[in-house]
Amino acid sequence: MKVYLNGRILDRDEAKVSVFDRGFLFGDGVYETIRYFDGVGVMLNAHQRRLARSMNLIEISGFDVEELGTLSERLLDANGLGDAGVYWQFTRGAEAMRSHSPQTDSMAPTVFGFAWELPSFETTRRTIVEAAAILRPDLRWLRCDIKAVGLLPNILVQMEAERSGAVEAILHRGDFISEGASSNVCVVSNGKLVTPPLNEEATSGLILAGTTRELLFECAGMPVEVRPLSVEEFSEAREIIVASSTKLLRAVVRVDDRVIGDGTAGPVCRLLHAGMMSAIEDQIRGDESEASGTD
Ligand code: PLP
Repeated sequence: MKVYLNGRILDRDEAKVSVFDRGFLFGDGVYETIRYFDGVGVMLNAHQRRLARSMNLIEISGFDVEELGTLSERLLDANGLGDAGVYWQFTRGAEAMRSHSPQTDSMAPTVFGFAWELPSFETTRRTIVEAAAILRPDLRWLRCDIKAVGLLPNILVQMEAERSGAVEAILHRGDFISEGASSNVCVVSNGKLVTPPLNEEATSGLILAGTTRELLFECAGMPVEVRPLSVEEFSEAREIIVASSTKLLRAVVRVDDRVIGDGTAGPVCRLLHAGMMSAIEDQIRGDESEASGTD
């Protein structure tokens, strides 16, 4: 595997980061994961926007988000991949000593990326993944809108999910659903798609502005109600769906001991999956026709 580190493509074993890197010492950094089909990044612009926002909010500078696409392509080429996930991490960099106050003047961000193979467009289009989940309290901080690398609460709940024979963890704060440990959540309730909001006063900062959530809004083909989703409503939903760049959409068919619907992907999830795959196909085609100069 070839990885990208601070301007260079290297063998994975050659790539080394200082033990004084603030990402290592403090989790002082942000990241993005982008899904590529046939060398085209799904919702690349949305990833760039979100990365710029995350970097701004934690005051890391020195990386131009416009480079994200070109660097990802370099990484994919180096690995001979077209259908892949691409992970990018940006830490505040390494300093002389461990200190809570970063010496920002003397530091450059550490930029690290790697890519791994994922199923092709056609395979993904044919497959609707059904997943069991657990529902647990959201133990994370109150700035989950920043895509920060410190993911300990997410990891602990994910480990718990796997111990219970599930693959997804869905989180709630008090009476309201926030999101998945690595995804956004929506449910089908009274014939509508319902998903928690990003920026209402009561929920501001509690969830990540998912790029797949955004894509879902564009291609849902049905009204989406963006409003607080109570645990009670979630517990009665006929369909539950999680969304993220690498999962795209997954039908949640069990939550703890409760079977959702008839225990298989429901009709809305199937429609959304089809809609999303055709929107992604448009993005792939659009990119190819731009590259070849056609309209
Ligand atoms: N919420 C959390 C906590 C996540 O970690 C992720 C993705 O990793 C998402 C939501 C979905 O974001 P995206 O659709 O941009 O991948």
